[in-house]
Amino acid sequence: MFGTLESKPLPLIAVSSTPANPEVRARVRADAENRPGVYRMWGPGDELLYVGKSVRVRSRLLSYFRAPKGEKPGELIRETAHIDWDYVPDEFGALVREMRLIQRHRPKYNVQHKRKRAYAFVKITREPAPRVVPAGRVTDDGSTYYGPFPRVGRVAHTIRDIAHVLGLRDCPGSTPVIFDDQLDIFAGRAPLERSPACLRADLGTCLAPCCGRPTSRAYDERVRHARRFLEGRGAAPLTILQEKMREAAARHDFEYAALVRDRLERLRIFQQELTAFRGRVDALTFVYRVPGHAGNDRVHLIRGGRLRDTLPHPKTRDARRRVAARIDAVFGAFEPGPGGLSPHEAAEILLVARWFRLKPDELKRTRAPEDWLAAKRPA
Ligand code: SF4
Repeated sequence: MFGTLESKPLPLIAVSSTPANPEVRARVRADAENRPGVYRMWGPGDELLYVGKSVRVRSRLLSYFRAPKGEKPGELIRETAHIDWDYVPDEFGALVREMRLIQRHRPKYNVQHKRKRAYAFVKITREPAPRVVPAGRVTDDGSTYYGPFPRVGRVAHTIRDIAHVLGLRDCPGSTPVIFDDQLDIFAGRAPLERSPACLRADLGTCLAPCCGRPTSRAYDERVRHARRFLEGRGAAPLTILQEKMREAAARHDFEYAALVRDRLERLRIFQQELTAFRGRVDALTFVYRVPGHAGNDRVHLIRGGRLRDTLPHPKTRDARRRVAARIDAVFGAFEPGPGGLSPHEAAEILLVARWFRLKPDELKRTRAPEDWLAAKRPA
């Protein structure tokens, strides 16, 4: 059955003797076939109410008409003015298509997807004194984004740790900043009089560019440490915390040492998860051949956890040449990295990862692009 992943079909429980919405039902009975596909249920004002998928579209759709009034499927079918559907030869293709439609239209009955699948990104802003802040979505604002991370609350906590350990600001972007080396240029002017705009300056958890304390070079150095940490190429926040813990223990401030130890542990776990997540996403790069309905086998090209293209499984020399050309294009193209991800793309990565996690045998149908080309590209 479809529905084991992401969007479960609305549960159909009881049987009513009077079918709801007889005109729509008549059309389904006349036209729908028992083949895999994705269906859409529309309201009278052409509002998309629900998107679903099934390996047997006709049976699935007809079952809605037997749902009792008062249950969600019953309410949905009574509200539906018309239904349309596409046949998709394979379950994986249908799953991705369904998710993309739901992400794009946010139909009101797709409660699971509407339950705000919250993914978080870490954003390093593009400003004179960049900030490290959590972000719910990627926008084209020149910032660098890292992620996606599925646990928003914890990510926000960890980002705060990174900012505080490295002394990076997390105040609003509108806070005026100035650097110590700029003060030299404007010696004697107003910036010298500035006081810190928040307590972090006095607590020593921010270098405080709001009052011109760091040089731009010193601040940039800390930003570089943050980037390297998020890219899995540096451990400066961990080193700083280890040093603080050692100093606290040396002066017998065990309470503070315990606080630092907990923060250190959180950042260590975060970095391990980051590395593991990135590795798992990179590993989702292959050519995935699946059996399709009535022999319509498909070849999915998956790179970095995202479905980039789907083609019919090639049966002729010319078709193999076409698939080889697409493989070259899809897997050979330059990828800008996490900064290029939209939230929808992030959701797709998590969906694809979940598919292979729940169906590990499906990995036996995958091949590295270069292996596919070596075996199948016509000479
Ligand atoms: S100390 Fe100044 S720069 Fe740092 S977070 Fe506070 S307001 Fe922003």
